[in-house]
Amino acid sequence: MPKMAQICQFCLRSGMLCPKCQKKVESGEVTQLDLKIARLLLSMEKEFPVLQEVTFYGAVNAKETLAIIVDKGDVARMLSYGGKIIREIGKKVGKVVRVVEHGVSSRKFIEDLFAPLTVVAINKIWLPDGTTETRVILDRRSGKLSKQRVESLKEIAKKVQGLTLRVEYSN
Ligand SMILES: [Zn+2]
Repeated sequence: MPKMAQICQFCLRSGMLCPKCQKKVESGEVTQLDLKIARLLLSMEKEFPVLQEVTFYGAVNAKETLAIIVDKGDVARMLSYGGKIIREIGKKVGKVVRVVEHGVSSRKFIEDLFAPLTVVAINKIWLPDGTTETRVILDRRSGKLSKQRVESLKEIAKKVQGLTLRVEYSN
């Protein structure tokens, strides 16, 4: 069965919440969206047994996009079956699904976030006020995202890794 990093197996399986998990929900450490997606993954494991090996960390909504955060190495599992798992999740939640990994470098995170587009370069920009932005340069030949799509991916980068992205295309 898929593991959820912050919720015990009993609560994931039973649909109830033990006092310990209830506290995590009340404190906001675990959101209702996290629970919803964890249980959705669980309900799909018979059809897609690879989900039994996936560790789920949480989920984030940004406009029309849902980002699912899984353990290192689990993106490949989530994208297996020719992308059928994420297409089904997308249909069920009515959103475009992106899968990213927990605790990875910002480069790996950004590459997963923008896949299947090719990331040509990533560099940090220091602003006069001392804050930083991360400039992502995408290969124009690999595709172009709508403005709205870029905005939702930027929102996810902010929520998951605290990154402020500036997205550009190579010539
Ligand atoms: Zn519990």
